[in-house]
Amino acid sequence: MSSMFGKVKAGNSADRSPAECNLVLLGAMGSGKSALTVKFLTKRFICEYDPYLEDIYTSEEIVDQQPVTVRVMDTCDQEGPVNSERYLSWANAFLVVYSINNMESFKGSQLYLQTLALHNKTFRPRTPIILVGNKLDMDRYRPVSQCDAEAVASRFGCLFFEVSACLDFLSVQHVFYEAVRRARQG
Ligand code: GDP
Ligand code: MG
Repeated sequence: MSSMFGKVKAGNSADRSPAECNLVLLGAMGSGKSALTVKFLTKRFICEYDPYLEDIYTSEEIVDQQPVTVRVMDTCDQEGPVNSERYLSWANAFLVVYSINNMESFKGSQLYLQTLALHNKTFRPRTPIILVGNKLDMDRYRPVSQCDAEAVASRFGCLFFEVSACLDFLSVQHVFYEAVRRARQG
């Protein structure tokens, strides 16, 4: 009986699995936030993208057989986590991006993780965070080891993936879909 009632309620705003999900991409300039966003939305790699363009894009997706309107905020902070109020309570999940071939971007990602950890101390439900090492195609030139990044991810209690915006689409899609799944878990 209760499961039938659950079905009737599906789609209701009080449902545990919201039909909308707001994702925010954060990280140092040049880490590939826009390239990942464009890849997720169009399956294509665009190598030149306006570095000063911050925007929100919407895409209708089906994640685990459930339709969801995914909104992606592609940020472009030039000085780390400043004016973070604009996305902190809007987000249902955060993707903190760095580039595996750039140590500064990895350090920068930790500033974002600290800001988000502070936010999650008081904000309920706690907003899930995914640490994303981008530019996996540059594996030969990496100063940031997978092991170091895993250690940071576990310290901040977040998921961790390495991807490349210019390699396969499904790996990039997987990261965005994992963000939706985590957000659904509330
Ligand atoms: P953003 O400032 O974080 O939005 O970074 P962009 O998406 O604008 O990317 C910065 C630069 O890195 C651009 O020249 C992109 O072409 C390049 N780029 C982005 N993703 C990748 C990637 O996965 N691999 C490689 N080799 N270059 C990438
Ligand atoms: Mg950008």
